[in-house]
Amino acid sequence: MKGYVHVYTGNGKGKTTASLGLAVRALGNNMKVYMGQFMKGQKYGELNVLEKLGVPVERFGTENCIISPEHVQEVDRIKAKNGYLRAKEILLSDEYDIVILDEICICPYFNLISTDEILQLIDLKPERTELILTGRYAPERVIERADLVTEMLEVKHYYYNGILARNGIER
Ligand code: ATP
Ligand code: MG
Repeated sequence: MKGYVHVYTGNGKGKTTASLGLAVRALGNNMKVYMGQFMKGQKYGELNVLEKLGVPVERFGTENCIISPEHVQEVDRIKAKNGYLRAKEILLSDEYDIVILDEICICPYFNLISTDEILQLIDLKPERTELILTGRYAPERVIERADLVTEMLEVKHYYYNGILARNGIER
């Protein structure tokens, strides 16, 4: 079966959770799933449960939440670069049916990895692999190359009323 490239971007909630839903559906079809999380070092709820289901979840970020490009530290850059190299290795291994690279789309915005590097990953994708790229501000060139692009539209978000990330709902 031919695999395609998905991009889940936009400001509204649902990008990472859409990729998790896809992972669950794929697992139910006996597919092999890998998830790499860029810019995340914290333990999100999905981590343990996916690992129990045989999905490796690797994190390429620190505990710090990066809020603007000026806040990026050398360690963030190194971790993201390692994530890029690891993603390359995972794709070249041709071991997985579904490869999810969570938050990779926002990495060029923070100068963590380049748009060209994301395009290289797309080039490396084995024919059968479904590649899922999530994160805000997906670069135009990545959108052009993808086969399926969904932009989550933020109609309302309780973030603006001071409701920050909650366990089980956002993390
Ligand atoms: P989910 O994981 O729930 O599917 P998502 O992947 O679509 O969400 P992300 O861009 O990864 O969304 O970011 C979600 C986090 O950003 C949440 O913890 C939320 O509290 C926070 N957030 C939401 N809106 C904003 C905003 N306008 N500015 C900064 N942070 C925000
Ligand atoms: Mg997300």
